[in-house]
This record gives sequence, C-alpha cells and structure tokens, in this order.
Amino acid sequence: MQKKKLIQVKNLKKYFSIGNGQTLKAVDDVSFDIYQGETLGLVGESGCGKSTTGRTVIGLYQPTAGEIILDGQNVHKSSPADRRKLTSKMQMIFQDPYASLNPRMNVTEIISEGMALNGLYKNNRMKRVIELLEMVGLHKEHANRFPHEFSGGQRQRIGIARALAVNPDFIIADEPISALDVSVQAQVVNLMKNLQREQKLTYLFIAHDLAMVKHISDRIGVMYLGNLVEMTASEKLYESPKHPYTQALLSAIPMPDPDLEQNRERIILEGDVPSPVNPPSGCVFRTRCSVAKEVCAHVKPAWKEVAPSHFAACHLYE
Ligand code: SF4
Repeated sequence: MQKKKLIQVKNLKKYFSIGNGQTLKAVDDVSFDIYQGETLGLVGESGCGKSTTGRTVIGLYQPTAGEIILDGQNVHKSSPADRRKLTSKMQMIFQDPYASLNPRMNVTEIISEGMALNGLYKNNRMKRVIELLEMVGLHKEHANRFPHEFSGGQRQRIGIARALAVNPDFIIADEPISALDVSVQAQVVNLMKNLQREQKLTYLFIAHDLAMVKHISDRIGVMYLGNLVEMTASEKLYESPKHPYTQALLSAIPMPDPDLEQNRERIILEGDVPSPVNPPSGCVFRTRCSVAKEVCAHVKPAWKEVAPSHFAACHLYE
C-alpha cells in the first residue's frame, strides 16, 4: 500500500539578512517528504540548518522560498484561519526543556495554554491535563508545581505533554535529548516511541549526531551547510553510507563490540564548517572532503537516487 505523505517540504530556503548587504543561507533549497506515522531523523553539525529547517516547517520562521504542504494543504498560502488550524496540527518539542517552559507558570497553566488558544477541552481541561501528565509518566500531584521543581528529564516530559495537548498529527522534536543526562535520554526516546504508537504521531527528530537518532528514526536525512546531502532508511544509512560526510560522521561513533571498535577506522574531518554567509562554490562539502575532484569546485552535485530509495548529492555517483 502506498504510504501517505503527511508533510512535503519543497525547495525550502531560509535566508537571514545579517547587515552590510550580507545574507546567511541557513537553509538552501531543501526538499523532503515525511510519511504518516514515521520518524524522519535530521542530523548534522551545529549550524548546518537542521533547526532552522524545523522552525521554518512549523511556521516559527517565514520561508524565503519554497513550500510546506501539510496533509495536502499549503501552510503558507492558506487563509489565516486555515493556517491556525493547520499549525495546531504541528507542535514542537525543544532542546532545553527549562528555557522553553515559562518559570512563572505552573504545570497546569503550561499544558493548558495551547488548549485555551485553540478553544479545546473547554469544560474538562483539568481532566485532560491529568490525562496528559499520566501519558508522559508524571502524576496528578505534579499539576500545581513549577518548572524549577522538576529534573531535566521530567521537564522534557512536561514539554511533551504540552505538545500533545492540542492533539497534533506531527511533532518536530528539536534536539529533545541533547541537554539530558545519558541515563535519561533512552527513557525520553522510549516515551516518544510509545506515544507515537498510541497517538499515531509523525515525527521530525532533529539531532546533532547519528548515534542519537539511531533508535527512533525510520529514515534519516543528513544536512551540511544548509543542504541535504544524503537521505535513506536508517539501517541502509548505517550499513552503507554513500556521502563522504555521512561516512565521516558514522566513523566517529564508537562500536559496542570491542573487536569492531579496535578496527574502527575514523575519518577525521579537517578544518571547520565554512560560513553559511560565504559557502564554498560547487559542492558545499568540498573544502573538507578527502575525495573531492576537480568538478566538485565548480558544479553543485545534483540530488539523485544513488541506490534504491537511497538519495545523495555527490559527484562520486554521477
Ligand atoms: Fe566530496 Fe565532491 Fe562528493 Fe562533494 S561532490 S562530497 S566534494 S566527492
């Protein structure tokens, strides 16, 4: 059966003007689909544009160009009333659960804010708050407490309950576990997986390294300097990465098996990520790519299917 595309991102660009006539190309012509019920992981180093992509998709930023289609409707071309309805179907979970929760609001106020804005559960909001707290592994006794009274993991659970309060179809999780202790990360990922099954949610899960998205993503997209460089099913990406940048990222992940770990060949990326204000010509990765060819300096590699359902942008596959 054909899977339904819940989100379609088409040729998305998000540029920021930073003065002196300069433009920062945070997201530069990115296209991808997210199928209903799946988790798409989006990975890349800091500054690669993954968070800006998420924030533009959800409407926190107006795109410079491109389209975002949610369930067949163009989000940015809808009437204000339709747009409000559409965006309530998309919610976000943030990296820093403390900074994203208003310290002066108690848990009930935080969780019910979105319901009030969308006119939901008018007569039984408190019941819904308690239901949501229990869904995320907290208790009704927590309803009157304030964010500072919780641990980082519990605060992220509150952030998840707040996102779920308006019955979204699609959740963008922007580095939701990066700020948490390693021991808590797996708990939050497992909670998100269970909620996905129970609530039939679709996720865009943003992370800065491939190890973090491994256990939750069905497919993974890798970004570098505002561009998508590779995308395929998770297991294919881990087993057979095509793009030199993905190969370098994967080589940095320690292996649990000591024999494999001993033989692990690390690809060290030379230099820093170039500035998105002045990205390299041709392939944006060429200044750090150990297998770059002459053509890489002049021609931007096309996004193409390099193996079945495996896409990459690299001249090695032309
Ligand atoms: Fe390296 Fe060229 Fe491929 Fe870019 S296009 S990743 S520079 S080989």
